[in-house]
Amino acid sequence: MIIEPKIRNNICLTAHPTGCARQVADQIEYVRKRGAMKSAAGLPSRALIVGSSNGYGLASRIVAAYGCRAATVGVAFERPGSNDQGRDKVGTAGWYNDQAFLKRAAADGLGAWSLNGDAFSREVKDEAIELIRRNLGPVDLLIYSIASPRRLDPVTGTIHSSVIKPIGKPYVSPSLDFLTGVVSETRAEPAVSQQEIDDTVKVMGGEDWKLWVEALQREGLLAENATSVAFSYIGPSFTAPIYRDGTIGRAKEHLEETARQIHSVLSRHGGRALVSVNKALVTRASAVIPAVPLYIAILYRVMKEKGLHEACIQQMDRLFRDFLYVDSPLRVDSEGRVRLDDLEMREDVQSEVARRWGKAATDTIQQLADVEGFRSEYLNYHGFGVRGIDYRAEVDPRGA
Ligand code: NAD
Repeated sequence: MIIEPKIRNNICLTAHPTGCARQVADQIEYVRKRGAMKSAAGLPSRALIVGSSNGYGLASRIVAAYGCRAATVGVAFERPGSNDQGRDKVGTAGWYNDQAFLKRAAADGLGAWSLNGDAFSREVKDEAIELIRRNLGPVDLLIYSIASPRRLDPVTGTIHSSVIKPIGKPYVSPSLDFLTGVVSETRAEPAVSQQEIDDTVKVMGGEDWKLWVEALQREGLLAENATSVAFSYIGPSFTAPIYRDGTIGRAKEHLEETARQIHSVLSRHGGRALVSVNKALVTRASAVIPAVPLYIAILYRVMKEKGLHEACIQQMDRLFRDFLYVDSPLRVDSEGRVRLDDLEMREDVQSEVARRWGKAATDTIQQLADVEGFRSEYLNYHGFGVRGIDYRAEVDPRGA
């Protein structure tokens, strides 16, 4: 079939298998060109990545495999492409990314296994544990990189939905339609109840990360000196009401507090747990948060002009090479977090973004922001607009 982008309400409903595979290959190439990593303290050799099929999780899996030659197990929740009785169904980008990664890893002699299912569930944790026991032995790296709108609590059977809302009062800000380039005012209403905040913390806070750590420990499948990392975000003051001071910010505070709790347990055996605060990037989620596409489009333009722009793979490569596996003490901020958002948050970057933010309007936006960069990265994330791909060619929706 011929697969084209189908976008409704800033959500892309299709993905292109060959384009996704090329994106994965490009990320692998980036890490290979940077060369094999070295560390006297040792590199990870067996890694579990929860949320491994896209964004930061996929990039960290690629760095673990191609920078450290680690065997990897990935867990993700994706819709497979299919062709049942001649009816084609397109899969999600993460499905095609995962297939492409497994195929490349096998060709390159790297151990790699993936599970497709709900990481919040007991069943998937049990399956992952069985797979690790059979094929790997204790993991020395656990990356937790889930971005999900909902979670079925395995104990109570309740479904919790996360919301991205301000707390206390509405958030009114300019916002960008990245498909049309129109800037208009948007108003996000505050969370209506404590329940909405608690639900968001349930989904995007640290509870499930801790359950993964405990499940692995119980089975003796977390190495003594293991490192575990989850990802957070802070951002500028003008998006704070919708992000860091909003419902999702509460979840990130919980995640960061969970890192301290996990760390206090793992550090008794020479291990560690930490949160890395990453840069704002175009992904499925960031495209639908009010004001965030406008912020990212301006940020990209400013960072590109200053030669500072990074995507997921550059961020994860830097996390491993400059922070996690160096022969000097881990560099963290006063809260114990790695700050991969250091370049985004640089004073000169933020003051220029703030200046442009104040001037953003439909007739000025093309001079102020990288709207095209946002749009093309969004399409690339789904395997479209990727260099060298013939989109008129028939592809099998089942992928590789
Ligand atoms: P993404 O949407 O690109 O990837 C999310 C991954 O989670 C996918 O592999 C998906 O399959 C998996 N997933 C979702 N629900 C699942 C479930 N129930 N079971 C198993 N897997 C599931 O997301 P991302 O932007 O890379 O975000 C990952 C983490 O990084 C999140 O914690 C996010 O808050 C954080 N972060 C993102 C940004 C950004 O700008 N994108 C910045 C800083 C931090």
